Amino acid sequence: MAKPVILAVDDDTEVLGAVERDLRQHYRSDYRILKAASGGEALEAARQLKQRGAAVALFLVDERMPGMTGTQFLSEAIKLYPESRRVLLTAYADTQAAISGINDVGLDHYLLKPWDPPAERLYPVLDDLLSDWTAHVRLPYDGIRVAGARSSPRSYAVKEFLSSNHVPYQWIDVDADPSTRELIRSFGDSTRLPVVFFADGSRLAAPTNRELAEKIGLQTKARLPFYDLAIIGAGPAGLAAAVYGASEGLRTVLVEQSAPGGQAGTSSRIENYLGFPSGVSGADLARRAATQVRRFGAEVLTQEVVRVKREDPYRLLQLADGTEVSCYAVVLATGVSLRTLEVPGIEPLLGIGVYYGAAMTEAATYRGQDVCVVGAGNSAAQGALFFSRYARRVTLLARSESLGKSMSQYLVDRIAAASNIEVMTGVEVAEVRGAGRLEKVVIREAAGGRERELDAAAMFIFIGARPRTEMVSELLDLDEKGFVLTGLDLARGEGRPRGWTLDRDPFLFETCVPGIFAAGDVRAGSSKRVASAVGEGSGTVGVVHRYLETV
Ligand SMILES: Cc1cc2nc3c(=O)[nH]c(=O)nc-3n(C[C@H](O)[C@H](O)[C@H](O)COP(=O)(O)OP(=O)(O)OC[C@H]3O[C@@H](n4cnc5c(N)ncnc54)[C@H](O)[C@@H]3O)c2cc1C
Repeated sequence: MAKPVILAVDDDTEVLGAVERDLRQHYRSDYRILKAASGGEALEAARQLKQRGAAVALFLVDERMPGMTGTQFLSEAIKLYPESRRVLLTAYADTQAAISGINDVGLDHYLLKPWDPPAERLYPVLDDLLSDWTAHVRLPYDGIRVAGARSSPRSYAVKEFLSSNHVPYQWIDVDADPSTRELIRSFGDSTRLPVVFFADGSRLAAPTNRELAEKIGLQTKARLPFYDLAIIGAGPAGLAAAVYGASEGLRTVLVEQSAPGGQAGTSSRIENYLGFPSGVSGADLARRAATQVRRFGAEVLTQEVVRVKREDPYRLLQLADGTEVSCYAVVLATGVSLRTLEVPGIEPLLGIGVYYGAAMTEAATYRGQDVCVVGAGNSAAQGALFFSRYARRVTLLARSESLGKSMSQYLVDRIAAASNIEVMTGVEVAEVRGAGRLEKVVIREAAGGRERELDAAAMFIFIGARPRTEMVSELLDLDEKGFVLTGLDLARGEGRPRGWTLDRDPFLFETCVPGIFAAGDVRAGSSKRVASAVGEGSGTVGVVHRYLETV
């Protein structure tokens, strides 16, 4: 933690030098002593310090300065640092300045120049003020700070990105912190939230995932000109393919648009994964797997793949920043994204009360409030159980007449045993309402169509999934729901797939383009489970080896 600052301001360079010397002599072991020769310069320094997350303990300011008086400076500076102690320096008993200082800027003291000897006339006063400041202030966090608002969906997305990449940060709600709001206003564009402040003093306004990734030191550019194997998606399937590919000597790159873990990474507790009898959190599993991937030497790029191209014998991944990754073989492990709920009122509330998936970063925000979980599958059940640890009451809204149809029995039992989870079956969400935040969820009974309103501060939606195949939709054969067809499913009883020119059948997990494989949830016929995604991801590497022998 950097030392707190004492900022001395005087336009008389001789006096400023003397103040600095005396301050350093007594305070340098505990404080950073900074100086400025005018109110304007000092204000700029205060802004820079605030942006870096530094604490200012005390302003020691000359009153009579050209351009901006000491009192005028303090009235601006305390908007940034409301807790700092304020001392005015005056050349004579300037009672008027002292009175207006006390009234206008809550002056703590005014000191007459000169203050010799400082041991008698300067240090006792400042010691007292500084010990008072130390006793009351909460020292600022000196890591990454995300300053945003609950009403800003991008603020939520940035928090999700950082936490799923295991990057610690401090959240500052600008609606509850006027000094940070003031700092952001001074940048001239206070509408672009969140503003992310970094320890080196730089900042990004409403950054994209890629901008953040570059800033926090994640790899975004491929190091090699060519790879044996490129994997798209770092969910369980992609992570497993990367571990096996790299450990078996293939030059392997794994490209993930968000953070390792995929859907599994958002699960609060996975209880049916082999080897973890008391369950494992998705975040933990993802962190361990990503470490394993890197230990075996695979590269992990934070980038979105926008298109996959075939230029025989090469396969090319086109990335969102316009660059390309070249390789022989591709494993498509892009999984699924949660299906969207199309009801009136939902769009403006996304990220500010309405969330797809588990949104674990938001759980604490809704502590003690009422929330709804929509869905009847295992992920909805896990979501409801997770939020029940924070919320006052969780209402699980299911369209089906009973949970048992789509939910594992152990989760049905857990839900029944949770005292603050209420289950409503045979209902659907008809509308959501709220201004700047979610307030009401309108539900409609399937039988009879009767509608009623529920109070809810948040709604978490888990209503099935859609395969993520945009980047291959023109290249690969998909089933009627958009999942990727592989292996024997490709032939559909008509011999080999359309356009297939090789004199062998497609390998297991191979798509209609030789050398492009699919694994995990994105593959037609997959089991939509962590263990099977891991099995398929690792299984593809065996067939990739066989394919590489043919290239
Ligand atoms: C909340 C929740 C709880 C669950 N709990 C369990 C459980 O307890 N037990 C269980 O067995 N299963 C559980 N599941 C299901 C399980 O998580 C999935 O079956 C599994 O994660 C599928 O893995 P995957 O690697 O195929 O795809 P995903 O996990 O969906 O991962 C796909 C990855 O690809 C990335 N990606 C997509 N498109 C691109 C692109 N264009 N460029 C770069 N990257 C891209 C995504 O960002 C994502 O990280 C749960 C799912 C959810 C949502």
